[in-house]
Amino acid sequence: MNESPQIVAGNWKMNLTLSQGREFLRRFKEFMGQSRPPRQLLLAPNFTLLAGLAEACGELGIGLVAQNCAPQESGAYTGETSVAMIRDAGAGWVIVGHSERRHLFNEDDELLRLKLQAAAAGGLRPIFCVGETLEQRQSGKAAAVVLGQLETGLEGFAGAGLMIAYEPVWAIGTGQTAVPEDARQMHLEIRRFLARRFAGGGLIPILYGGSAKPQNAAALLAQPEVDGLLVGGASLDPESFWRIARA
Ligand code: PEP
Repeated sequence: MNESPQIVAGNWKMNLTLSQGREFLRRFKEFMGQSRPPRQLLLAPNFTLLAGLAEACGELGIGLVAQNCAPQESGAYTGETSVAMIRDAGAGWVIVGHSERRHLFNEDDELLRLKLQAAAAGGLRPIFCVGETLEQRQSGKAAAVVLGQLETGLEGFAGAGLMIAYEPVWAIGTGQTAVPEDARQMHLEIRRFLARRFAGGGLIPILYGGSAKPQNAAALLAQPEVDGLLVGGASLDPESFWRIARA
């Protein structure tokens, strides 16, 4: 178990415009005025919102996260966003390997390895997502799949600033959440892997993601191996994000 404060990160995916993001933060600030959660808060809006939300997030102590990054430093890569651009826009973290990137955009472990290295080289802290499909879980391969994703993705990575998000694919956006005990067991497997791989790797934060909401956040956060949550749908509403953050 990591002794640092737990982390609650919201992933807005391709939702909310800049004005909607500003309105979210205005309302979130009111909830924060009622009681400040004892957790580190992060938000991952779309690229187009990063610079416009940086100041308000800074005032609220919320860290800004990009949802993706290019593996290349710069150049003729139309439509891509580099690590330097993300940092310049005010973000300090980047999500790498979200299951929607893996499955909808065919990002494989090799590409994700390059993205992780680009993030590290450019000073962005990666939140590296791993997780198995329902079929892989049902055939008893969940741990092998997740450890394989870590093995390939983290090859050559030094470990600095790393965070892992365990997000079973079948639990993302489906309303189905992993049983807290299953989440704990997978987090333990991941922690053992990280402890073998990196000096001090047992302290790398491991977040759980997959239909986390105010109703189940406390049970998930109470698991000894769960260092925080990565929240999709329920992070779009300021009240539900705040309730998760203080669950
Ligand atoms: C996510 O997008 O990382 C996620 C966990 O989504 P949801 O909470 O909606 O399942």
